[in-house]
Amino acid sequence: MLELGQAKMRRLNPETLGGRLLLGNFLPEELQALMVEWGQPRYRAEQILHGYYAERRLDPMEMTTLPLVLRQQCAERFVTMPLKLVTHTRSSDGTVKMLFELLDGNRVESVLIPREMRDGRSRRTLCISTQAGCPLGCAFCATASLKLRRNLETAEIVGQILAAERVLGERITNVVFMGMGEPLLNYDAVVRAVRLMTWGQQPLVAPRHITLSTAGIVPAIERLAQESIAIKLALSLHATTDNLRRRLMPIARRWDLETLLAAMERYYRATGRAVTYEYILFDGLNDTDADIRRLVKIARRVPSKVNVIPFHPIDFTNPTGLAAELRPTPRERIAEFVAALRRQGIPTMVRSSSGVDIAAACGQLALTAAP
Ligand code: SF4
Repeated sequence: MLELGQAKMRRLNPETLGGRLLLGNFLPEELQALMVEWGQPRYRAEQILHGYYAERRLDPMEMTTLPLVLRQQCAERFVTMPLKLVTHTRSSDGTVKMLFELLDGNRVESVLIPREMRDGRSRRTLCISTQAGCPLGCAFCATASLKLRRNLETAEIVGQILAAERVLGERITNVVFMGMGEPLLNYDAVVRAVRLMTWGQQPLVAPRHITLSTAGIVPAIERLAQESIAIKLALSLHATTDNLRRRLMPIARRWDLETLLAAMERYYRATGRAVTYEYILFDGLNDTDADIRRLVKIARRVPSKVNVIPFHPIDFTNPTGLAAELRPTPRERIAEFVAALRRQGIPTMVRSSSGVDIAAACGQLALTAAP
C-alpha cells in the first residue's frame, strides 16, 4: 500500500542552505517576526515582500525602499531563487517546458501554456510541480516512473513562477497545480504557496486564476474546503467504476469513488465553487456509452464541468503492465463522447494537447528531453 506518511517527511535538507534562509518560505507574519528579531520595524517585512513578489526584485540590493544595511543583511541571509534553469524547450504550438534544478540537485519541470483569447487578451498558464517525482504511481503518467524523491518547499513552488517569468520574459497570468507530484500530499507547502502567490495589492496570480488538481486525497480535500483560499479544485477522475480506477490509479484503493465524490460534494457545499473533473480518454477502457451514462451522473451531483483530455503516450518511459496497453481514444470517438456529455447538459471542454511534441503535455513530465 502507498506510504503517504513518508511523503510528508521528505523535505529539503536544511544543511543544503548553509545557514541561509529561503525568502520564499516566509509568510508575511513570519517575516514580520524575523524583522523584529533583526531589530527592524515590522513594516520592513511588507517592503521586502512587495519588492520580491510585486516588483520581482530577486536581488535584495535592488530593494531600494530598504535601508542599505538591511539590504545587505537580506542579501547575505536570504536565498531568493532556489531554482536554476537547466534547459527549456519550445513546442511548435508555443508551449515551453522548463527543467529546473533545485539546490540539492533534484530536478522538476514546469510548463508554460500560452493562449491568445478571443477577446484579445493573452493567457499565460504555468503548470507547476509540487513534488520531485510522485509516490502515487498512476498507470498513465510518466512522472510515476520517477517515484517520490521529496516534497518541494513553499519557496520552490512559488519560485517556479518567478523563475519562469525570467526565462520567458513575460508575466504568468494563471497557475495550475498539475505538474509533477500530488499537491495535496504536500499540503502545508502548497497552501502556503497559494497564500504567497495571492498576497498583497499586486498578487503574482489572482486566486480565481489558480486551479489545484488532485488524484483524490480525501482528508486533504475536506481540509482544503475549510481554507480561506478561493482557488478552483479539479479531480483527476479518469474512470467511472472503482474497478478500473483502482487499476489506473493505485490511490483509488484507499478511497472508493463514492467516498471521493461525497468529499467533492462537501467541498462544493462548503465553498460554493463548482468543481472540475479531469477525464483522460483511453481507447476501449473508459470511453464506452456506459461510461458516458455514469459520468453524467457523477457530474450532476454538484455544479461541475468535465475536462476531457486526450491520452498522451508515455512509451519513452518503457511502461509495463496496464500502462503498456493504454491507447488513445480515436479522435472521432472523443468528439462523440464530448457531444454526448454536452447533450446531457454537462459543460465539457476538450483540453488541447499542448506540447505533445516536447513531452510537456499532461502526464508526460519525467525529466526527459523531447522524445
Ligand atoms: S498523474 Fe499526478 S498523481 Fe498520478 S502519478 Fe502522475 S503526478 Fe502523480
